[in-house]
Amino acid sequence: MSATAVAPFSLKDFFKSFLLVELFKGMALTGRYALRRKVTLQYPEEKTPLSPRFRGLHAQRRYPNGEERCIACKLCEAVCPAMAITIESGERADGTRRTTRYDIDLTKCIFCGFCEEACPVDAIVETHIFEYHGEKRGDLYFTKEMLLAVGDRYEKEIAAAKAADAKYR
Ligand code: SF4
Ligand code: SF4
Repeated sequence: MSATAVAPFSLKDFFKSFLLVELFKGMALTGRYALRRKVTLQYPEEKTPLSPRFRGLHAQRRYPNGEERCIACKLCEAVCPAMAITIESGERADGTRRTTRYDIDLTKCIFCGFCEEACPVDAIVETHIFEYHGEKRGDLYFTKEMLLAVGDRYEKEIAAAKAADAKYR
């Protein structure tokens, strides 16, 4: 037969509870912070600052004359630890080599940035964009056209981030 343990009576705990000491301590803490500078942001209306090295959605870039930067060297494909990049290439009429297929499966990507680091012509980059989603798996399979469209749309921001980071490289 086991005996039920009874907690010993503590006069100190009784008075702490009776006088609402914990409640007043909590209110004092709230009061101390009430007038301080607020650090909470009202996302998504307010955003936190992002590093120029932030690694978000990928983009393929073009030169100012509209020519795509990528030369189909496949270094990014080789370095990608998640094997998320698939490239096929071909020779154009002018003798230059370009990709005929450049896909990134973002469901595999771990956003390590190796592809961007490996690229000799700053073609593949990771942008500051992190607010995107897919409703089915295929929505996150980015083709060359989709990546170029992201690059075309955000080239100004991408170039500014590259310029801001250049002095640390
Ligand atoms: S960020 Fe890393 S995992 Fe994603 S595609 Fe580039 S190299 Fe691959
Ligand atoms: S994105 Fe850069 S690293 Fe990848 S194939 Fe094109 S040029 Fe080479």
